[in-house]
Amino acid sequence: MIHKNHGNIAILCSGGDVSGMNAALKHFVEYALLCGLKPYFVYNGFEGLIDDEIQEASYKDVHGIIARGGTMIGSARSKRFLEAAYRQKAKENLDKQHIDKLIVLGGDGSFRGMDLFYKEHAIAFAGVPATIDNDIVGTEYCLGVDTALSVIKSALDNIRDTASSFKRAFVVETMGRECGYLALVSALTSGAELCLIPEVSYDLKEYEQSFQKELAQGRGYFLAVVSEGIKEESIMIAKWFEKKIGIEARVDVLGHIQRGGNPAVRDRLMAYQFVHFAIDGLLGGQNDAIVCYNNGYLNYKSIKEVANIQYQLDSTLVDLFFQNRP
Ligand code: ATP
Repeated sequence: MIHKNHGNIAILCSGGDVSGMNAALKHFVEYALLCGLKPYFVYNGFEGLIDDEIQEASYKDVHGIIARGGTMIGSARSKRFLEAAYRQKAKENLDKQHIDKLIVLGGDGSFRGMDLFYKEHAIAFAGVPATIDNDIVGTEYCLGVDTALSVIKSALDNIRDTASSFKRAFVVETMGRECGYLALVSALTSGAELCLIPEVSYDLKEYEQSFQKELAQGRGYFLAVVSEGIKEESIMIAKWFEKKIGIEARVDVLGHIQRGGNPAVRDRLMAYQFVHFAIDGLLGGQNDAIVCYNNGYLNYKSIKEVANIQYQLDSTLVDLFFQNRP
């Protein structure tokens, strides 16, 4: 059913970009138009909101973008948005275009900013969780995670080829300063021998006997997946392999390749579902909510349920890797 004159709605990306944001932008334009909303893009996050980089969007802006990583409207962090005077400026810019609804693709920091903005200026907002770290409380899935995991999987598969051919240990470092989700899931799904993440304390000594024994019994290589947030640098883990286990070792820091790339099917689909739900919510009277995904269903959560709470890694995943290991 086509509805008419539901007003103007904008979307912006804030914080780290992820693959799947472009799919979200495409569906935003298509579904907003179908709902009788006039869609607008805010370029370059809250910075663009302050600098009036707000433009009406149409189908022609979103042709062919679904397969591209990153975000075609840019993303940013904004120190200025922390100040009330700049948020006032942002409100004035939205008023000029008669925009009273805003969708924000970002992390919990962006949602905190929008919650404040809503309370000050009554711009209704819906947050869509987007971060490859998958560490937003209240949702089991954040946009971009599956693409990042696919990138890591491909890298680990390639590294295993050379590790096994040359009888080496490889220490592969993933992103995740405070959250080991990417490293843990990647270790599980690539059969890594070692996984080190900030959430699980470790003592390398405890692995020495079994790794030495495996090597003596003919093990051809080791894969260690470590999160950038652990207490030691990856090079120290490689040195440990050489000194204590007796196998030549190398380090690969995957870095920003994890943030980009052709969006995985799951991220394209989740992008559509998140945005669809966000628009439905804004039209249905949700003013200050985050779209979350739990047990196979989307739902709305308040900022209190999402921000300012310490994220906990899924303990069943932790057990799956760490149980029955030294
Ligand atoms: P990422 O996963 O990339 O860290 P994030 O949304 O958590 O995403 P932040 O850098 O924490 O990223 O926040 C993004 C922006 O949100 C900040 O640059 C700032 O403009 C705004 N913001 C964050 N917290 C607040 C706040 N308390 N008040 C106003 N604005 C805020």
